[in-house]
Amino acid sequence: MKVGIVGAGMVGSSAGYAIALMGIASSVIFVDRNADLARAQAEDISHAVPFMSSCMVYAGDYGDLKGASVVILAAGVSQKPGETRLQLLGRNAAVFREVVAEVLRVAPNAILLIASNPVDIMTQITVRLSGLPASRVIGSGTILDTARFRSLLGRHLQISPQSVHAYVLGEHGDSEVLAWSNARAGSEPLLSIAAQMGLPLTDDVKAEIDDGVRNAAYKIINGKGATYYGIGAGLARIVKSIAQDQQDVLSVSIVTEHVAGVDDVALSIPRVVGAGGVSADLMPTLDDAEKEALHRSAALLKTAIEAVEI
Ligand code: ADP
Repeated sequence: MKVGIVGAGMVGSSAGYAIALMGIASSVIFVDRNADLARAQAEDISHAVPFMSSCMVYAGDYGDLKGASVVILAAGVSQKPGETRLQLLGRNAAVFREVVAEVLRVAPNAILLIASNPVDIMTQITVRLSGLPASRVIGSGTILDTARFRSLLGRHLQISPQSVHAYVLGEHGDSEVLAWSNARAGSEPLLSIAAQMGLPLTDDVKAEIDDGVRNAAYKIINGKGATYYGIGAGLARIVKSIAQDQQDVLSVSIVTEHVAGVDDVALSIPRVVGAGGVSADLMPTLDDAEKEALHRSAALLKTAIEAVEI
C-alpha cells in the first residue's frame, strides 16, 4: 500500500518513520513545500528501514501521490508555546485550502488522515473542501489522548496499557472528556481492579491522571517545543488498521451527524476503522457528568466550526 504524507515536519516525519519501521506500507512519499526538507526526511528515514522492515521511502511532488490509498495531511504551522489549538485555526485552514485540492486532483480515492491542529476543526474543514464522505476523512482526534490515559492508568495499576480499555472522547484539546465510568482493565471495571490490586483510584489520583492527559501537550511543548513521537505512532496505528483492514476500535475524529445532542460536528468517540475508513461508531455508555461534558465539548467545536468560512 502506498501512503502519502503532505507535511514533512516533525509530525509528518514521525508518522512516516513509524509507518516505515512497522512495515505496514510498501511505499511512503513525502510532499512538502520545503522540498529540501521532504528529501532529507525521506533519505534519513530510508536509512533506518533496512534494520527493521522493507518499505520504499522517498520525496516527491503531488503527482507522486497518484495511487495512494491513504494520504496523511500534516502540513501547516505548529502550535506555539501558550497558543491554544483553536488559535491555530485560521493559519492552518488557509494551508488546507491549497493542499486538499492538490491531493484530490491526483488521489481522489485516498482516505485522508488529518493530523494538523486543531484536528477536529481541520477534519471538518477537509470534508467541506473535499466533498468526500465523512467516513473517509479521519482526524487523529483523541487517539493520542486515549494512549496517554491508558499509559497513566497502566502505570498506576502496574499493568500494561494495552490491557487497559479506556477512551478519551470529544475534542482533541482542552474540553476533552476522560470516560472514567466505563473504563476497564482486562474485563473488570477500573475501580474493582484498583481495589483488588490495593492501588485505589482516589480523587487525588484521578485528578493527577486527568491533568497528565489533558495538559500533556502543553508540558511537552514547554520542554521541547513540539510533540511528535506520540502522534506519529498514533497516525501509524490508524494507517495499520486501514492497510490491514483490521476493523480496530480507535478513538478518532470524523464529522458525525448526531452526537451528544449536537448535529454535524467532528469529534472523537470510539469508531471501527478498516480499509474503507470508519465503518461504525461505538458510543460508550456514560454517566451524567460525562454526558454533559461531552455535550459541552461538542457544542464548543460546533461554535468554532460555524465561525470558519470556507
Ligand atoms: P508539526 O510539528 O505540526 O509537524 P512543522 O512546522 O514541523 O509542524 O511541520 C509542518 C510542515 O508543513 C512544514 O515542513 C511546512 O513546510 C509544511 N507546510 C506548510 N504549509 C504547506 C503547504 N501549503 N504545502 C505543503 N507543505 C506545507
